[in-house]
Amino acid sequence: MSVLDLARAEIRALSPYSSARMEAQGGTVLLNANESSRPPNIPGGDGLNRYPDPQPRALVDALAELYDSGPDRILVTRGSDEAIDLLVRAFCRAGEDAVLISPPTFGMYAVCARIQNAAVIESPLEPSGALRADTLLAAVTPSTKLVFVCTPNNPTGNLIGHDVLAHLARELSGRAVLVVDEAYAEFSGAPSATSLIDAHDNVAVLRTLSKAWSLAGARVGALVARPEVIGLLRRIIPPYPLPSPCVDAALGALSYEGRRVQRHHLQEILGERARMFAALPGLPGVRDVLPSHANFLTVRFDDPAGTYRRLIAAGIVVRDVTKYPGLEDALRITVGTGNENDRVLAVLRAGAGA
Ligand code: PMP
Repeated sequence: MSVLDLARAEIRALSPYSSARMEAQGGTVLLNANESSRPPNIPGGDGLNRYPDPQPRALVDALAELYDSGPDRILVTRGSDEAIDLLVRAFCRAGEDAVLISPPTFGMYAVCARIQNAAVIESPLEPSGALRADTLLAAVTPSTKLVFVCTPNNPTGNLIGHDVLAHLARELSGRAVLVVDEAYAEFSGAPSATSLIDAHDNVAVLRTLSKAWSLAGARVGALVARPEVIGLLRRIIPPYPLPSPCVDAALGALSYEGRRVQRHHLQEILGERARMFAALPGLPGVRDVLPSHANFLTVRFDDPAGTYRRLIAAGIVVRDVTKYPGLEDALRITVGTGNENDRVLAVLRAGAGA
C-alpha cells in the first residue's frame, strides 16, 4: 500500500493545469504566456513582467539543504498555511473524511478542515501539555486521513519526543498521514521529524521561514515529504504560487550572510526567552509560565483580561489564548527585542494598581 491510496481518488486522477512556463523552457523571446514584454517602471521592477518559476530550483535546493532532505522531497508553499490547506484538500473527501488534532494547538488545521467540510476529531493534550500516543491513536477512526501534531506546540510551547513521533508514524502507516508541524523547530534544537520520512511514507513535515528566518511578510513555507506526496500536491497548488520578490527575499535570507545574521538573531531570542522565563514568575498577578521551546511564552495570570487590557493601554499587543481548553487564564507573549520585553515586564511589574 502506498500513502497515495489515502488520497482523494479524483485528485490522483486529475490532469493538472499546465502553465505556459511549465510547458516550454529555454528560449529568449518569450511570447507564450501573455505577459507584458516590458518591465513595470517601478523600483525593483526588472523581471516582474514575467511569471515566476512555479518551484524555483535555487530555492528548492536551498530548502532541501536546510532541511536535510532531497530536492524531490520539497514543495515550496505560501507559508506553511498553504501546505496545511493543500494536504487537507488532497486527502480529505468533503463530508466523509476527518482530520485529528490535539487541542490546544494551532487553529488552522481545524479551519482548513472545516473549509473542506472534513470532520475535526479532537484528542486533547494532557493537562501538562504532553501528547500521549495511546490516547491519540485511540481517537483515530477509519475516516481519519490526516493527524496533525505540532512540535514545539503552539500555544503550549512544549515538544513531542522523537520516539513518540516515530511510534505514531509506524502505527498510522496505511491509515493516515502524520503531519508534523515544525514551525518553531529552530528555537528548540530538537531533531527534525524529516528523518522519519525515509522509513515512513506517511510522514509529512511543515516548515516555515516566517519565524526563525524573519520572513513572515514574504510568505515562504515548505512541505517536506515523499516525492509522491509532493507530486500529488503539485497537482492542486496554483500555477505560480511564489511571487518573485518573495523568492529573492528567501534566497537572501538563506545566503551565507543571511544565515550568519539569522544565527545571531536566534541566539538573541533564546537569551531573551530565558530572561523572560526567569523574570515573569516573580511579577504581580503571574500564576505560572509554561516552559517553552518556541519564540513565545504562554503565561497564566490571575486576571488575564485585565492584564491584556493593561498591556494594550501601554501599546503592547499579546495573544489572548483564553479560549483554548486548559489555557483559560493564559496570554501568549511573543519574545521580542530586549527593549520590547522590558516594556512588557514594566507593565506587569506595575500590576493592577498602575
Ligand atoms: N504552524 C504553526 C504552529 C504556526 O504557529 C503558524 C503561524 N502562526 C503556522 C504554522 C503558519 O505559518 P506560516 O503560514 O507563516 O508559515
